[in-house]
Amino acid sequence: MKVKYKCSRCGEIHDPQTLIYRCPCGGLLDIAEFDIDFPLDKIKQRTPSLWRYEEALPFSKSQQVTLGEGFTSMVTMDNSDNVFLKMDYMMPTLSFKDRGASMLITAAKALHVKRIVADSSGNAGTAIAAYAAKARIKCDIFVPASTSPNKLSQIKAYGAKLHLIPGTREDTADAAIKEVEASGSFYASHVYNPFFYQGTKTYAYEIWEDMNGNVPDAIIVPVGNGTLLLGTYYGFKDLHDKGLIPSIPKFIAVQAEGCAPLFKAFQSGAQEIEPLEPKETQAEGIAIANPARHHQILQVIKETGGEMIAAPEQKIEDARQELAYKGFFVEPTSAATYAGYLTYVAQQGNPIKNLTTVIPLCGAGLKAIK
Ligand SMILES: [Zn+2]
Repeated sequence: MKVKYKCSRCGEIHDPQTLIYRCPCGGLLDIAEFDIDFPLDKIKQRTPSLWRYEEALPFSKSQQVTLGEGFTSMVTMDNSDNVFLKMDYMMPTLSFKDRGASMLITAAKALHVKRIVADSSGNAGTAIAAYAAKARIKCDIFVPASTSPNKLSQIKAYGAKLHLIPGTREDTADAAIKEVEASGSFYASHVYNPFFYQGTKTYAYEIWEDMNGNVPDAIIVPVGNGTLLLGTYYGFKDLHDKGLIPSIPKFIAVQAEGCAPLFKAFQSGAQEIEPLEPKETQAEGIAIANPARHHQILQVIKETGGEMIAAPEQKIEDARQELAYKGFFVEPTSAATYAGYLTYVAQQGNPIKNLTTVIPLCGAGLKAIK
């Protein structure tokens, strides 16, 4: 395998063949830097999928486990010509998580893994289950018992073994890790396994290509465990390091008010997350009380001159309705992102309206129909 893991705490390099999910020091694993390239003439002639950026990915196209994910369209909102919606809900399993799942399951296949275990609030589990099915790898998915029924049906449809765990999202993660440690299975975690972010980074590449080599002033990003935020940042950083863009956009990160530990830490300038008891939130996809990568997430927001917004719970359903009346039918977590954007505009006033902004629509409305 051409890439290695690098511990984010002690810097030690590990071979992915070891199948570890954390450094022995307890640190989280990143992907060690590797050579990348963006041969635009070649890229433009390729299939519209995220694998068109092959030279910037850790695997070659011949190794890929793909369902045709990526290269989603970006459309303007209303009559505005500077606020764009990127339609990541138009993916094979109806959420942006397919970006990371394609890369993570490609890694599992390259490592000759026979069985994987993953935990999720729903969409990542769905995506992992689908790509594991494509790669013919046995798959156990752990989700909170409260997960939307349609997501559960979708996970089961792919043939994954579904484990419903009572309690919080953290209880679900604990149950999955226990199973990984007891069985020696590969932990296909979208939080711990850094290959996932090698998939989500293509979100930034696509925006850059779609905008003809430009980037927006600001990116609005929903944040729970930070899989989209960190991946998007890595993507823009790659382009910046290669001298292809003059600067990295400002990251405006959105949490739902009912579960906003990162928002609270950012507001108070704290480095650590205060443990919190999540209240009821409609945004199940970002209801993470203690995100493992919180240091990295907060660092990105600060470094890019960004901001954190808490979307008011009572505005999420209105935002979902408003988007649907514009023709975009998304799940509540995506509506929370839009509610966060509206809150940001209300706080900042007109200047934000003059900025070029991209808002992702991450998950399809059908996933959360009751
Ligand atoms: Zn370490």
